[in-house]
Parts: sequence; C-alpha cells; structure tokens
Amino acid sequence: MRPEEAAEKGVQAVLSRDDIARHLTSEMVFDGDRLPGYSDTIEHPDGLVLVDTGLIDTTPAINGDGEEWHPYPLPDELVSRVAVVVNTHLHFDHCGGNRLFPGIPIHVQRRELADARTENDYTVREWVDFPGATYVEHDGEAEILPGIRLLPAPGHTAGHQIVVVETDEGPVVLGGDVGHWFDELERGDTPGQQLVLELAAPTHLAHVAEVRVPHPRTD
Ligand SMILES: [Zn+2]
Repeated sequence: MRPEEAAEKGVQAVLSRDDIARHLTSEMVFDGDRLPGYSDTIEHPDGLVLVDTGLIDTTPAINGDGEEWHPYPLPDELVSRVAVVVNTHLHFDHCGGNRLFPGIPIHVQRRELADARTENDYTVREWVDFPGATYVEHDGEAEILPGIRLLPAPGHTAGHQIVVVETDEGPVVLGGDVGHWFDELERGDTPGQQLVLELAAPTHLAHVAEVRVPHPRTD
C-alpha cells in the first residue's frame, strides 16, 4: 500500500521494509550440511512483533537420526520488547522459544494448535503448552495490528499461516515453511505456495537467508 492510499484507508501505521529484521534462531546440522532457521521481527508502532521463536535449548527428543539442532536465542533486549508473537506453525524449531513469552498473545491458526496438541511426533508439546501460554486462535485471515495480516497457507502443515506486512514499498511476505527452498515454493504444489506465488511480493522463508520475489516455474 502506498502512503497516500494508507492515509485514505485510515491506516495509522505505514511500515517500512527496514522495520522488518531477520534473526538466526536455530541451526540444524545433518551429514555435514547446515540448515539455518530464521525468525523475523517487525518494529510496529504498537509494539515489537516476533514471527516464530526458534530454539532456545534442545532436548534429546529432537536430536536423532543424524540431526543435530543448535539453539540461537534472541538477545534479551529484543525478548523484553516483544508485544505480540505469531507462529507460522508449531513445529519445534518454530515454537521452541514460545516459553519466553508467558502472558504475551501468541497468534496461531486454531487447526495448527489442535494438531500440535493431538498428533504424535508433531512437535515438542511442552514447548507449545507451557505455564502462562496465551494463544489467540484464528479461523482464517486476521489483521492483528494495522498493516499486519495473517493468511492461512496450508501445505507444509494443515494449519500453517503466513504473515503479510504492508510497507511503503508494498507487501512483504513472512512465509515460514510455506516452502523450504524457493525451488520448492515456485512449484506451487500446495494451496499455501499458490497463495504466496499470487502475492508475488518479497518473501522470507524460514530456512533461506535470501529474500526474494518468487515466480511460478514454467518448466
Ligand atoms: Zn515446519
């Protein structure tokens, strides 16, 4: 949305792309390959928004089959300022730091939370339900703060969602695991991937350092 357009719609906050930052919050080592995991923050006038919480520690349950997970906790300065948390989904490498935020609203799709609580080998359940956990459950699209929308993007998990941030340069997509790699996203095999391809906006993927606009593959 352009600033003039935002003003017409009565949107108070026009964010800039510089308000969105990426933070390495986990790393998985497998067979000598390293897979980074990133969380995103949005500096919104109403408070700092954190999208996915990464890992703050590990448990023997997640280190197996040659996978070795390393936590990279966010700096205390950021943690202390978080006003709103969003989980794209509740796999353990995306919610491992949720425990740092008792009493802070954590936005998730209702389906995602239900699956994390009931399906076996889905996540580390104690990292999802901890003392003081305050989930805000959504059935579909939601604008959680002016200029920050959640859109269901199923595929990687049934309850997976993406975050769309309106900036003065247009929307930016915080895509979580909608695709593990851009090649996978650009095949458009899932409803979530098709949605992100239609948005055709600069896109963050949780396990890719590069940010770019995905294009549907024609081959
Ligand atoms: Zn995942």
